[in-house]
Amino acid sequence: MIKQKATGELIVISGPSGAGKGTVISKLLEDNKDLWLSISATSRKPRGKEKDGVEYYFLSEEDFVKKIDEDYFLEYAKYQDNYYGTPKSTIVDKLKEGLDVILEIEIQGAAKIKELVPEAIFIFILPPTEKELLKRLIGRNTEDSNKIIKRFERAYKEINEVTKYNYVVVNDEIDNAVEKVKSIIKAEKCRVDRIEDITLANQEEIIHEAIINKKFIDKTIYDNIKK
Ligand code: ADP
Ligand code: 5GP
Repeated sequence: MIKQKATGELIVISGPSGAGKGTVISKLLEDNKDLWLSISATSRKPRGKEKDGVEYYFLSEEDFVKKIDEDYFLEYAKYQDNYYGTPKSTIVDKLKEGLDVILEIEIQGAAKIKELVPEAIFIFILPPTEKELLKRLIGRNTEDSNKIIKRFERAYKEINEVTKYNYVVVNDEIDNAVEKVKSIIKAEKCRVDRIEDITLANQEEIIHEAIINKKFIDKTIYDNIKK
């Protein structure tokens, strides 16, 4: 019948800092074993309880630049004075295994992925209002006020980039936003261009077998079909 692509999908999730990308993604991962979140490398310092190899691979700026030269990254970008990059190697393996891979990256990196993998799924997460965004950035309590203002200012610029994405999800109520992202992934998997092959079995053989097994069809129907 229909044979669908066996490889996974690449899903790019962006949105202003504080919109809730991380929160949405961790809920998505809770009940979907077919999803794999790529762990980025960064030259920024760990904040709060962040651990090396869990939220990020934390590198010195020097080591990060070395890895750029070694072509280690699928994409990388500078965001608020720090480098962030997606390691290349594991992603290809995970996609081949049939897992859907999520990249939670900012807009410059997403633009690079669009050049490399135009068929990837690009989702932009927005907060319901600017005021709520600022409230979330403050409430998260992970940056000092100076950095919060910088991230908030950048969010204003980033919001205009939404038109470069395939989907926009407003993260008003968390469960609602998670359901929307799940639906997007489900719908993408039904796309006709995911079909690799369509093969039709021999119709007569199937009908004949059905008669022999006397399961679905009666001989008179078969004779009528054959006329
Ligand atoms: P991002 O990854 O986009 O920077 P986070 O996931 O860290 O954002 O979320 C920023 C803050 O907003 C966190 O404190 C988080 O708990 C909170 N948050 C996320 N989604 C919602 C929501 N739908 N309603 C209220 N608060 C939220
Ligand atoms: P944070 O410092 O809040 O963890 O991340 C800052 C920004 O960097 C977020 O918008 C996040 O999506 C982005 N980011 C995280 N990892 C990567 C990456 O590998 N590549 C790029 N381009 N951006 C990333």
